[in-house]
Amino acid sequence: MDCLFCKIAAGEIPSKKLYEDDQVLAFYDIDPQAPVHFLVIPKQHIPSADALTGENSAVVAHVFEVVAKLAAELGLKNGYRVVNNCGADGGQTVGHLHFHVLGGVAMGWPPF
Ligand code: IMP
Repeated sequence: MDCLFCKIAAGEIPSKKLYEDDQVLAFYDIDPQAPVHFLVIPKQHIPSADALTGENSAVVAHVFEVVAKLAAELGLKNGYRVVNNCGADGGQTVGHLHFHVLGGVAMGWPPF
């Protein structure tokens, strides 16, 4: 399958890896939008949040456990933002489920 994040998960394309286990991989975003910006992805190819079902959604809970662990390790004591862009209107550009973690700065709301 021609999927960028599957290739990163398989080690075929290099990444600045932060964490890896049998289910997920975390790596720094190549185009950071905050002082700290990393992505957490399931290793399994799930195209988007829209494709989550009872069969494949357990990994999302694990993603959030990993997010909390890495945020603590990276010193994001004041908080951070977790973003999932889903589909074209959501701004998704890579068709493999991923969660952005942005921190190191106070952010505004709403995002547009
Ligand atoms: P999306 O727009 O929510 O789909 O996010 C895709 C993200 O992947 C963007 O923030 C990109 O900067 C990031 N990205 C694209 N290619 C790479 C790469 O090779 N390594 C790390 N991050 C990447």
